[in-house]
Amino acid sequence: METDFSADCGKCFALCCTALSFERGRQFGHDKAAGQPCHNLAGDFRCTIHARREELGYDGCEEFDCLGAGQRASAIFAAENWRRDPPIARRLYASFSLLLRLQEMRRALVTAAELDIGEDLHGERLALLEQLATQADSLREDIGEEASKLLKACREFLRQLRFVIAA
Ligand code: SF4
Repeated sequence: METDFSADCGKCFALCCTALSFERGRQFGHDKAAGQPCHNLAGDFRCTIHARREELGYDGCEEFDCLGAGQRASAIFAAENWRRDPPIARRLYASFSLLLRLQEMRRALVTAAELDIGEDLHGERLALLEQLATQADSLREDIGEEASKLLKACREFLRQLRFVIAA
C-alpha cells in the first residue's frame, strides 16, 4: 500500500546513492563522499549490484529508506541540467537532505498518534503535521527558512511530549 512515506525509486535520480556519504565497514563495501555517485551506480540511476548488495557488503543500502524524499527532490529539479552543473547538483542534494528531515519528522508525528497525550496535544500534533505535509509536498526549492523553523517547532513539541509521557 502506497503511503505519504513510500519511496518511489523509479521517479528518483538515485539521490541516496549520490547525495549521501558512507564509509567502508559493516554496512558498506567502500568509502563514498557526499555528492559523489556510488561506483556501483549506472548512468540510468540503477544499482548494478542490486540483487547482490547483501552478499557484497552493502546491507546499509538495503536498510536505508528515504521516506519519499528522493522523488520529491527529483521532481523539483526534473527540468534542471543538474548532471552537468555542479552548483545545481548541490542545490538538489540540499533539497533532498531537507526533505529527508521533513519526511522523518512527519513519520515521527504520525507515529505519535498512538500516544496517550490528550486532545489538545493531539490537536497541536495534527496542526504541525499539516504544515509538514504542505512543505514536503510543495515541490518548491525555496522552503529552507520556513522548513527550518517548522522543524524546530516540531522538535520542541516532541521534547514536550517526553515530559508528558514521563509524568
Ligand atoms: S551499492 Fe547500489 S544501492 Fe548502494 S549506494 Fe551503490 S548504487 Fe546505490
